[in-house]
Amino acid sequence: MRLCRFDDNRLGVVRGAAKALTVHDVTTILDALPSWRYPLPDHDPLIAALPGLRDRIEALADAAPGIPVGNVRLLPPVASPRKIVAAPVSYRLHHEEALADQTIHHGTNIIPIDKAGLFLKAPSSLIGASEPVVIRFPEARNDHEIELVAIIGTRADRVSRDQALSRVAGYAVGLDMTVRGTQERSMRKSCDSYTVLGPWLVTADEIPDPSALEMHLTVNGETRQKTSTANLLRDVAALIEKASAFYTLMPGDLLFTGTPEGVAPVVSGDVMMAWIAGIGEMEITVR
Ligand code: MN
Repeated sequence: MRLCRFDDNRLGVVRGAAKALTVHDVTTILDALPSWRYPLPDHDPLIAALPGLRDRIEALADAAPGIPVGNVRLLPPVASPRKIVAAPVSYRLHHEEALADQTIHHGTNIIPIDKAGLFLKAPSSLIGASEPVVIRFPEARNDHEIELVAIIGTRADRVSRDQALSRVAGYAVGLDMTVRGTQERSMRKSCDSYTVLGPWLVTADEIPDPSALEMHLTVNGETRQKTSTANLLRDVAALIEKASAFYTLMPGDLLFTGTPEGVAPVVSGDVMMAWIAGIGEMEITVR
């Protein structure tokens, strides 16, 4: 199932193939979620409830007319992630390009994921596929980083590698937008709009092997990044094992798995197209 959020916090199921994708409004299912009072939950309520709601969501989608996907404004498919976990330098060729280019490394210590571990991005940086990335520091180098994103579905506290994928609700395409510079990653990658998630969530049953997904990113039609998740130095399961060794992952938490080689700057007016096999593509403008 492909699940999107759109327009004024509506929920939809995406059906159909490439050029004829339609959104089927299933917003009424949100009435089945608990209503919360302070303190708010430590997870995303829809993602937590999803396994028990899927049959009813499919039935609602069956009965709803299809809206062409181009006619809706896509929001991030997860409304309220409490953590956005991200992997640094998790493709070998990206490590090599980062070491070779002073405008990427800025004299900072670029070490691969085995030694560096993971970092966190501010949830306030999250946008959906129909929103623009707004360049915060035009005088700096602002790079695109396409990444496969795993969306955690069930609580994961110190899970082993072989149990890890069972905790995933689904996958989406991510852009980990980055200001290059000497500051901490958590600062440079947390500007408003610097975390793009979309175009929708594809449930994990449709992605049996997240370690064999082709991906590419173009800017103004020119290919910049192109690889397969087979080239990840640490795969999705290993990243979940590593993250959950340090903190409990909760439903709706996002795991950005790292970017391949080909990172490059974007400026206002550019249009990025990010695609991952089995998930879909999204076109993001830069302002
Ligand atoms: Mn990244």
